Amino acid sequence: MMPHMKTMTLLACWLGCCLVTSGADYVVAVSIDGLGSTYLQTLVDAGKLPHFKHLETESAGTTNARADFDITVTLPNHTSMITSRRIKEPEGHHWTSNTDPAKGVTIHSNKGSYVPSVFDVVHDHGLRTGVWGTKSKFALFKVSYDALHGAPDETGPDNGRNKVDCFVYAKSSVLTDSVISMMTTQPCHFAFVYFGDADAAGHTHGWGSEPYNAALITMDGYLGRIMDLISTDSRLKGRTDLIVTADHGGEGKDHSDATKPIDYTIPFYVWGAGVTPGDLYTVNAGTRKEPGTGRPDYSEQNPPVRNSDVGNLALSLLGLPSIPGSAIDVKQDLKVK
Ligand SMILES: [Zn+2]
Repeated sequence: MMPHMKTMTLLACWLGCCLVTSGADYVVAVSIDGLGSTYLQTLVDAGKLPHFKHLETESAGTTNARADFDITVTLPNHTSMITSRRIKEPEGHHWTSNTDPAKGVTIHSNKGSYVPSVFDVVHDHGLRTGVWGTKSKFALFKVSYDALHGAPDETGPDNGRNKVDCFVYAKSSVLTDSVISMMTTQPCHFAFVYFGDADAAGHTHGWGSEPYNAALITMDGYLGRIMDLISTDSRLKGRTDLIVTADHGGEGKDHSDATKPIDYTIPFYVWGAGVTPGDLYTVNAGTRKEPGTGRPDYSEQNPPVRNSDVGNLALSLLGLPSIPGSAIDVKQDLKVK
């Protein structure tokens, strides 16, 4: 080995050791639009979703997690996932639109102040992030955290302001190929992956309809490919966690009534390195309360598991601190073992 190569190898090892202090090195968060727990469980029980069944068996999870209290639509709930904030009220991120952002508009310009995200914390610690989405409106995450609109990096070495290293907008089959290719060659330490197929089928044909169920079966296949990658890739194996959740459920051809259990009841699974399989409410008995069919608001001392836990939980799994200004799981006390 050439001396400088040895130095580089040592440097790479040193960086690898110092960047991650505990838990996983990589987290992949998958959100499946419109994945209501009722529909998921029915298909799992019928043996139609083998990979979700695998996930249910091996994860710390629940089918009784909650969407945001006020709003059960797509982009606002996903903005909650990446910022670990509610949507409304002063502490919220305030993104209520569900369409492509207008030119020049960001999460920050809409709120009137900077809204840090999971991408900020991962990037500012010198790690890689990526967003994959099947709907164009997810460009909101790219433009809000790009080299122009992302906050200066004041953590350790300056890694620049662009917080999202990789952004891909494609249909779900191509998207899955892209996730697998990138995670194999240049893995993102935090990858956010969004599939819109089931929601589209729900809006056209109804939640629980044959096309909706068929879309979930297709999603199960993509999930299986991602789970296979995580359990077999030499770099990812044993060092990666997968989070799977949804933005909302639905009924008929709609999901926008935030007071309906069928709209706000969603799954939340954590699978992979350092995770002990079990019910998330049992594991977190002192800090999270199983909500039954109820709709707890944000004043609950022991809140339900929510999709907005994604950001701070992912950081906790990576051994990184919580998102500045966030409120959901800000103490990072949602445990997965
Ligand atoms: Zn949605």
